[in-house]
Amino acid sequence: MRKLTFKGGIHPPEKKELSENESIIEFPVRPEISVPLLQQLGAPSKPLVKKGDPVKKGQMIGEAQGFISANVHSPVSGKVKDVDYTNHPVTGRGISVTILTESNNTPTSDDYFKAEDPEKLSPQEIADIAKNSGIVGMGGASFPTHVKLIPPKGKNYESLILNGAECEPYLTADYRLMLEKPEKILLGAKLMMKACLAKKTFIAIESNKPEAVREWEKLTSGEDWIELKVMKTKYPQGAEKQLINAITGKEVPSGGLPVDVGVLVQNVGTAAALYDAVYSGEPLIKRVTTVTGAVKRRANLLVPVGTYVSDIIEFLGGYLGEPGKVIFGGPMMGVSQRTDGVPVIKSTSGILVLSKTESTEKPQTNCIRCSRCVTVCPIGLMPYEIAARSETGDLETAGSVGALDCIECGSCSFICPARRDLVQLIRLAKNKIIAKKKRGAQK
Ligand code: SF4
Ligand code: SF4
Repeated sequence: MRKLTFKGGIHPPEKKELSENESIIEFPVRPEISVPLLQQLGAPSKPLVKKGDPVKKGQMIGEAQGFISANVHSPVSGKVKDVDYTNHPVTGRGISVTILTESNNTPTSDDYFKAEDPEKLSPQEIADIAKNSGIVGMGGASFPTHVKLIPPKGKNYESLILNGAECEPYLTADYRLMLEKPEKILLGAKLMMKACLAKKTFIAIESNKPEAVREWEKLTSGEDWIELKVMKTKYPQGAEKQLINAITGKEVPSGGLPVDVGVLVQNVGTAAALYDAVYSGEPLIKRVTTVTGAVKRRANLLVPVGTYVSDIIEFLGGYLGEPGKVIFGGPMMGVSQRTDGVPVIKSTSGILVLSKTESTEKPQTNCIRCSRCVTVCPIGLMPYEIAARSETGDLETAGSVGALDCIECGSCSFICPARRDLVQLIRLAKNKIIAKKKRGAQK
């Protein structure tokens, strides 16, 4: 099968071998968990419980506020210890519902709503279930799924791409899910396709996952609604725009969205979550996450949202040597944590521990204009130029040379011989430009 790809990109050490053969294990519920009310892009949910309230597993404890937001449910039965600011893996601090788990964590909330006949659901009913169940993109971006499923007025989807590329080094959660729960992904994809009215589904898998490729070759052969696409192993192959271009040949315009070219991209984990919501009535309260790197035992865990990293590390036998960095996600786009007293959220695709030696950063030097960053940029930007403008505060030029098109993949920083923290500088410029635009719009 011909392998598809995009222009640019890099080949960082894959490190998948550390955890790719670890089957998914269900993580035991801990005595205390902390469930953040912000677990997606957009507005945090509004708390529906207070200190001292009893909660049931699956009960809605946070209600979406605004168009881009998502409901939050309790992954356990127990009692609310507090609703207050705690450590948050993305924002640093945020409001969470801390719950003391009951020793018998079996009762299921009445909020569980199982569709009687999933085949008969209308597109809007499927999107409503995704909304009620608090489903967000599980690949890391965590955009509320119900918002993406129904195209905006005047637009339509021709195809759905199921993203199983998992191009971030170290991560193997999607890979295990594709091997161990393919029926959930298939049925979830059928629901998505029905909701978004696409005519065709593609599942994209990178060539470094031959077992998954073989499995999905069998599952898709003879099916006319779904087709397997094998992608070259290259980072960031799983980025939305790169995937769309490689599979359909279409280019998402600068500042545009995939819907502008009639494509919906959804992570394989999101399809499985939609399956759980429709077929079992279970809201999004747990996810598969890879725990890897400098830990005594590496694993792919099905872990309740709100579980502290420290509890997970303890379960896996502790750190291997002195930990240097704990990262949520992979080494390229992940977020470094200040502490392991931070909970897993819906977007936590991995927990990567780097040792002290691995995380010691070498000093940056001056740019030598080698243009390697330009060669690898999948968007075709000039990272050194945007970074230089960011440093001098020249936001106008940074914007005019495409700062807002940067997908923050980190390929430029990875390749730079001067070890310039290009992505950090570009992100800074982006944030300032967006903030300036917002201020302008408010005037
Ligand atoms: S400029 Fe942005 S999109 Fe281009 S390589 Fe750097 S981080 Fe990736
Ligand atoms: S890769 Fe680094 S040294 Fe080379 S042009 Fe880009 S910023 Fe400069």
